[in-house]
Amino acid sequence: MRTTAGWGPGQLAAGQLTPPAVETSPEQAAATAESLAVPGFDAVVRLLTRTLGVPQVALVLNSGAAYWFADGNALPAGGPRALHPLLLQAARSLSSQVVLDAQADERLRDDTLPLTTGLGPIRFFASEPVCTLTGQHIGALCVMDSQPRTELNESEQASLRDAASLIGTGVVLRSYLGRTDPITQLPHRYAFFDDLRKHLHEGVPHAWVIAIDVAPVQRFNAFIRAMGHAYADELMRTVAARTIEWIPPQTRLYQVGATRFAAVLPDHHLLDDSTRLDDLVARLRRPFDCLGIPLTIQPGVGLLKIHANELRGGDPLRLVMNASHAAQQSPRGWAVYNRMQDEQQRQEFLLVTELAAALNERTELDLHYQPRVDLDTGRCVAVEALARWHHPTLGSIPPAHFVALAERAGLMHSLTQWVMEHSLAQLAAWRRDGHEIKLSLNVSSSDLDADLVGRLRGVAERHKIGLDALELEFTESTLMEHSAVNRRHLAAIRELGAGIAIDDFGTGYSNLATLRQMPATSLKIDQSFVRGMGTSPHDEAIVRSVAELARNMGFRVVVEGVETAHIYESVLGMACDEAQGFHIAHPLPSQELPAWLMAHQGMPSRRAVRWGE
Ligand code: C2E
Ligand code: MG
Ligand code: MG
Repeated sequence: MRTTAGWGPGQLAAGQLTPPAVETSPEQAAATAESLAVPGFDAVVRLLTRTLGVPQVALVLNSGAAYWFADGNALPAGGPRALHPLLLQAARSLSSQVVLDAQADERLRDDTLPLTTGLGPIRFFASEPVCTLTGQHIGALCVMDSQPRTELNESEQASLRDAASLIGTGVVLRSYLGRTDPITQLPHRYAFFDDLRKHLHEGVPHAWVIAIDVAPVQRFNAFIRAMGHAYADELMRTVAARTIEWIPPQTRLYQVGATRFAAVLPDHHLLDDSTRLDDLVARLRRPFDCLGIPLTIQPGVGLLKIHANELRGGDPLRLVMNASHAAQQSPRGWAVYNRMQDEQQRQEFLLVTELAAALNERTELDLHYQPRVDLDTGRCVAVEALARWHHPTLGSIPPAHFVALAERAGLMHSLTQWVMEHSLAQLAAWRRDGHEIKLSLNVSSSDLDADLVGRLRGVAERHKIGLDALELEFTESTLMEHSAVNRRHLAAIRELGAGIAIDDFGTGYSNLATLRQMPATSLKIDQSFVRGMGTSPHDEAIVRSVAELARNMGFRVVVEGVETAHIYESVLGMACDEAQGFHIAHPLPSQELPAWLMAHQGMPSRRAVRWGE
């Protein structure tokens, strides 16, 4: 049957369907889907599906990209990939097209390709051009059915026209909102990507991307809190204006984040002369006059050389952001993207995520316990709990690594909580079995807050452990770091009856005055000196003198890193109260400790030495 409606000057004639079928690439489809994610667009399509009773709707752009719906629902990943020439022709035509029955339509008779959308054969097809508010023709709205029709009546045609016009308005709105920053009026992230893609497809092998971070996010937020949004908007406008003065003519500046600009630079511009970058940083570091208030920012300028073949699947903005972020901390203020550093940060990020999961699930974390022996009696008086992480693919990760990671990622509270719960439950079990030992726990600087006392008391009560059975080990630097603020927390821990040890003593920079003020009960001489005792008379002298001094100041003196019988014997002759080290025992899994305690009830001791005399 011949079509009846909408044949304009560009109407189809038999054998005229010359354009080849167009394959929509997944990339193109994804880009289209994203750019057409207009609020209300889906609703328009559903309305059309119901009004016209058509199962299939597509918006086909004149670029060949298409956005598909079946039964009112958007198809993921752009829908069918092959575009029949009829759809492409409709998208490029300024007039409506109607095919009431493809099998009976003369214009399609000679066509070698059957009319199909990839979702099945099509008998009925109608389209309406889509134009933006500004009159730009962008494609066609197409409706399709596997059943033929006898007519498309006036009211149905009007519905199709209205839907096409609503979509045209929406696309403009989306494009305006998505592509232009309302404050600075600079083109947005999507426009940046489009232009970068175009630039690299114009036969240029690579481009330089520059990103400018105005200020660290926290600082910018603090600025908004103090001054209000109007000042923040004005700041972004003035920073943009100053940056535009610097960038080469014909280069566009884009606003790619709330506090970030970017541009694609002509290649030679930077390679020739890096002083130009110093100049940009200097300009940005000069105070800005923001509504009459002078303000300095903390800019970071990042650079990335990107090759055309790196665009597919890559995220150049993420990479260049890495550089601009690093630059914010550097005195020079600009930095070129460093793949190794990025890789390291990514690994760290992934590891932090996994550590957080490990802390939730608790199957990969474990505690080992290292005995501490009283040198007077030769008996184990305490064990130090040491965390272990058995990563499923990376194997055993040393605590020195993951504790620092937890510290940086704000996970320390939950790690310490887990260590306290786990080790106190274990201590309670050992005590029930008659092992009268104490427990020492390592605590980080970030744990040392008002909460710690309550947490410690809570866990001890739950496991019915007296707090005098516990000792918390803080590093020397932690105890020095926040001297005034934290002295109160430390005093509260002491009041509960728990001991406080200065761990790794000798690696920090405390002087005698600060040492005198530390509210600690014991001092652990760092293992680096102790291990060196066998070979260095200096180390031996250090350990001997520090032990003497510490004991005279009232500390209980513990030596760590006792690796040999020779060192053990040496420390027996010094002012040391306890020893810990591989010679005595390696850190042991909890189930091995009772057997070790039974087998090592009498290590060499001063008492034994005296008896032997
Ligand atoms: P640390 O508290 O000074 O613990 C002693 C470290 O020295 C342990 O290493 C232990 O295995 C090791 N060690 C003991 N005796 C010897 C010896 O004779 N020779 C040698 N070469 N090493 C010896 P580890 O278990 O790898 O722990 C390293 C550090 O990680 C600990 O040093 C501590 O600062 C931290 N850490 C471990 N577990 C925790 C935890 O649960 N919380 C916190 N905040 N830190 C922890
Ligand atoms: Mg320790
Ligand atoms: Mg230590």
